Amino acid sequence: MSIKIIPQDQLELQATNSVIKQIPLLFYPSPKTLYIHRAERLTSLANNSPISDYLKFCAIIAEKQANLIKHNPIDIDVSCLLNSDRPPLSLANLPLKNTWQDYLTSLLNSFSDTTQQITLVIDQLKKNSSLELQDKALHLLKGEFDRVDGNETIFIWSSLSVYYCQLASQIKGKAIAENTDKLWLCPVCNSMPTASVIQLGSHNGLRYLHCSLCESEWYVPRVKCTCCDNMKGIQYLSLEKELAATKTECCDVCHSYLKILDQDKDPHIEVIADDIASLILDIKTEEEGFAKSGINPFIFAK
Ligand SMILES: [Zn+2]
Ligand SMILES: [Zn+2]
Repeated sequence: MSIKIIPQDQLELQATNSVIKQIPLLFYPSPKTLYIHRAERLTSLANNSPISDYLKFCAIIAEKQANLIKHNPIDIDVSCLLNSDRPPLSLANLPLKNTWQDYLTSLLNSFSDTTQQITLVIDQLKKNSSLELQDKALHLLKGEFDRVDGNETIFIWSSLSVYYCQLASQIKGKAIAENTDKLWLCPVCNSMPTASVIQLGSHNGLRYLHCSLCESEWYVPRVKCTCCDNMKGIQYLSLEKELAATKTECCDVCHSYLKILDQDKDPHIEVIADDIASLILDIKTEEEGFAKSGINPFIFAK
């Protein structure tokens, strides 16, 4: 792992070893606003989309995630998690407790008037014992996505995200890095990214990967494969011309791709929402022989 999170009071000791000092390496999420913003963006994207109904469904989930945080926030002292070399919220550093299941129960119970298909998935999930749910969550956190039904995964992952996102926002550690290699997984929770984003304005066009689980964002240099560090022959595909705000960044060495979303070209971009809405670009990129090196919490069902 190249980005390491250390307690604030150790910063001066470690700073001399860090070669990347000027760049903000890590942004923790803001749970109180993040899901509200996502729901708004999904609703707006649904206005002119061939997958309008699905975007509206995702917007409802994001709204419910915002409500879970509003009505049942968690506040845990996570400072002790910075005493190891592992990402603080990784499973190896923080075993998963059942707490996240309260969010799942509330999420499932909050659906009253919905489609038959969604009702079926919700009923199916409600029949799971706590042990079974824990088992499914652990499979997902370990990246064993084919071990859990994709429709169930959306609800489980959304609840886990609400839990991890709040923990991530409470970490007070500072990020340091000695180089910019091997930045493939989230330095906070060790999960895969969804896409990368060029943040609006203030950071001089720097690129950050957005975590699919804890919603943190971490720095990766531009024009570099986010899966194998290759920097040669990276190509960009888009549905429109060069000025497109959403492109896929494709690597000829490992044949993977990930989307890169440019907020300087469209300030309304929200990573998870825009990644789902541009599903056609995924299909086109996969037709060219590339495989996605990230996951979107709303696109597990195959
Ligand atoms: Zn993360
Ligand atoms: Zn690559």
